[in-house]
Amino acid sequence: MTFRALVLTQGADRKVSGAVETLTEDRLPAGDVTVAIDYSTLNYKDGLVLTTGGGLVKTWPHVGGIDFAGTVETSESPALKPGDKVVLNGYRVGELHWGGYASKARVKGDWLVKLPAAISPRHAMAIGTAGYTSMLCVMALEKHGITPASGEILVTGAAGGVGSVAVAILAKLGYAVVAATGRPQEGEYLKALGATTIMDRKELTEAPDRPLLSERFAGIVDTVSGVMFAKALAQLKYGGAAAVCGLAAGPAFPGSILPFILRGVSVYGIDSVMLPKAPREEAWRRLGSDLPLDRLDSTVSEAGLGDLMALAPKILKGEIRGRVVVDVN
Ligand code: NDP
Repeated sequence: MTFRALVLTQGADRKVSGAVETLTEDRLPAGDVTVAIDYSTLNYKDGLVLTTGGGLVKTWPHVGGIDFAGTVETSESPALKPGDKVVLNGYRVGELHWGGYASKARVKGDWLVKLPAAISPRHAMAIGTAGYTSMLCVMALEKHGITPASGEILVTGAAGGVGSVAVAILAKLGYAVVAATGRPQEGEYLKALGATTIMDRKELTEAPDRPLLSERFAGIVDTVSGVMFAKALAQLKYGGAAAVCGLAAGPAFPGSILPFILRGVSVYGIDSVMLPKAPREEAWRRLGSDLPLDRLDSTVSEAGLGDLMALAPKILKGEIRGRVVVDVN
């Protein structure tokens, strides 16, 4: 009747402190399904919650972790039964609702997706919200009509979580992938994931300050925003598209309308959090078939609940390579 959790509290200076504690199950929030969690993971948003709360958490003490994978323990939901392997990401779990940095979670059954047989709970968290978001970006480019024959796809923030998985999926699907990174020392890692070209981030940020540059990319997966995205947009080919999901360089971007009205390019906004169930399930199905799990393994490092407070500032500084899987037990 007890479980372990990284319990977060916020001081008067907004600084968040965390301690691994043993709690009784009556502390779990309301919900119709209780899950025994195997693994959680560390995402950029988790970094915000673990350091300052990022304005995302409304009540303390709090249990963070915006995603988790595990096994249904008890269920009042007709769609799920004990023993089902499930994954959760989004729905503001880990922000407004207690999340995955615990050995148990209680949530709404509607928020859970059954894992495809090809994906174990550990692999699900190696993918995590970051990898699932990468899949949503790739699906948006595909729906736009982009194929490997269309030309190169640029991935920004390539050595990060979303970027790494996007590189691996796109390469598996046969795309030529330009991986833009501020860490050229990660070039070999990105090539092993399937990148065809490694681009120093500076090639984008220091590109001439013009609203239109030479046409190069058929598509973009952008995790960074800022100048990098503006200069990438200026290099989209006629009719190309960008799937935009992140803001690692901040929310603003100094863009021009010209790529839209002179080259007919499109931008697709990607939200993983409140996405309806059908595309959510489609994304997990696609991850089961289109993400080479052996390549994914090279992106993974493992941590425990007790490591998270030290890792959080690192993900905010862009110092984490690939994905961190958290063994919560
Ligand atoms: P990571 O920190 O793992 O990766 C971000 C990467 O961006 C870094 O590794 C780095 O890549 C690059 N980067 C960091 N800071 C800067 C900077 N100042 N200028 C340029 N590049 C920078 O985070 P995630 O991959 O987990 O998330 C990426 C973004 O996507 C975040 O903003 C996150 O909030 C967002 N996100 C959005 C979701 C949605 O639903 N829309 C879901 C999941 C994530 P490199 O070293 O290769 O340059």
